[in-house]
Amino acid sequence: MFDLVLGTGNAKKLVELRMMLPEETIDLTALSEIENAIDVVEDGETFSANAAKKATEQAKHLGRWVLAEDSGLSVDALKGAPGVYSARYAGTHGDDEANNEKLLNELADVPMDRRGAQFNCHLCLSDPDGNVRLAESGICRGRIATERSGGAGFGYDPLFVIPEYHKTFGELNLTVKRALSHRSRALRLFIPKLLRLVQSNSTSA
Ligand code: IMP
Repeated sequence: MFDLVLGTGNAKKLVELRMMLPEETIDLTALSEIENAIDVVEDGETFSANAAKKATEQAKHLGRWVLAEDSGLSVDALKGAPGVYSARYAGTHGDDEANNEKLLNELADVPMDRRGAQFNCHLCLSDPDGNVRLAESGICRGRIATERSGGAGFGYDPLFVIPEYHKTFGELNLTVKRALSHRSRALRLFIPKLLRLVQSNSTSA
């Protein structure tokens, strides 16, 4: 089994990542299960810089393989904001309610045909020495609704409409989100490469 730490403290993201990673080959440990994990400061200017920082700093500290993820929402009419500031858009890190309220206010005068947006996800795998060994990304296009709908998911899910379904991620179940989301698109590119790396690691060990 390949020992891999999932470098996220977000329980909802963890569920989505765990759902897709092959547990018969990979022994996954969540950051919350590790007592001496460090809190990596996310001060990069891009999703990929933040994902790399979270993966490499944690991996070096723990001496273990770490898969980190950085994601967020980019709204066309706001020139890509909130972007890397998605989790703390309204000031307090992880205050989803306040973040959604701020987004609705910022877009109050923007008509529906100009409310396009995308979720971005960047994945980064670091080896125990802090070297980036794999990186992948995925996006999911949608629109920002004028009011919240649905209680599923997290973050901006109640405002993020998937046009094909005429529903927000908050209204769609996890199976649909798994098929469409930025995180699952990045994972679909990432997993075959990870499995090849695991294979070559076990033959060279
Ligand atoms: P991170 O922990 O810095 O990657 O924060 C990502 C932030 O982006 C979250 O706190 C959410 O606000 C937002 N976000 C990322 N992925 C999703 C998603 O799948 N649904 C809703 N919001 C998301």
